[in-house]
Amino acid sequence: MDEQLLRQYLGFYRDLGFETLYRRQAVTAAAAATAPAFEPMETVRPPQTPEPPPGKTAEQPKALSALPGIHPADDTLEKIRHDIGDCTRCRLHQGRNQLVFGSGSERAKLVFVGEGPGADEDEQGLPFVGRAGQLLTQMIEGTARKEGIPLTRPDVYICNVVKCRPPENRTPQPDEMETCGEFLFRQLMVIQPKAICALGSTAAKALLGTKDGVMRLRGKWHKWRDIPVMVTYHPSYLLRPYNQNAKKEAWEDLKKVLHYVYD
Ligand code: URA
Repeated sequence: MDEQLLRQYLGFYRDLGFETLYRRQAVTAAAAATAPAFEPMETVRPPQTPEPPPGKTAEQPKALSALPGIHPADDTLEKIRHDIGDCTRCRLHQGRNQLVFGSGSERAKLVFVGEGPGADEDEQGLPFVGRAGQLLTQMIEGTARKEGIPLTRPDVYICNVVKCRPPENRTPQPDEMETCGEFLFRQLMVIQPKAICALGSTAAKALLGTKDGVMRLRGKWHKWRDIPVMVTYHPSYLLRPYNQNAKKEAWEDLKKVLHYVYD
């Protein structure tokens, strides 16, 4: 199997929520006596948190709604950006070129929350400008046009759970999400949108504090504080060739959000 196909398979299983795949270990004669034939250690992503002790659940990032309300009364997006500064609060700053704060209108009625910047975003300092971003723009503007809603991308606000690109585009770790979550919390408190659309499981985890995957959460309304949240697939997932049905579902999710916000 070539490497690209293997990556697609791994991505597919990761999207389904299987973080650990089982691989047949090439056991040497000497190791065979002690090692099991199958070793549960081929992780799709770098390990994020140690295994919890029996009876305890794995460490989860605190949902943003569970964080204390640390938002100044006269907060603005400009102040939040100023407070983030040249951030070194977590390890993600080490590999970034540019911090990606967010883009769009401070008065947006709808906010999209992604996971974290990729290479193109890190290069340009803007969220969702790479291939996934182009798809997101098409989804927003295409669905709006079809549904007769006068809306273009600059009318909404787009940001991420973490503001710096994780190395190799890995999933942000719980402590990184918590550290950066303070600023996402303030962005949402300032904008006070009518609805939030969580793109993918990292955004859903951060906002809702749930362990459930996107397949279970999508298409239904949830809440962040008092604001309705729709969870849908991350556009990067939709770019994969085997996810055609997910595309239809994502369009349905988006239709629901747009009608709720703009009707
Ligand atoms: N993926 C994300 O989650 N966010 C971006 O800004 C780009 C890609």
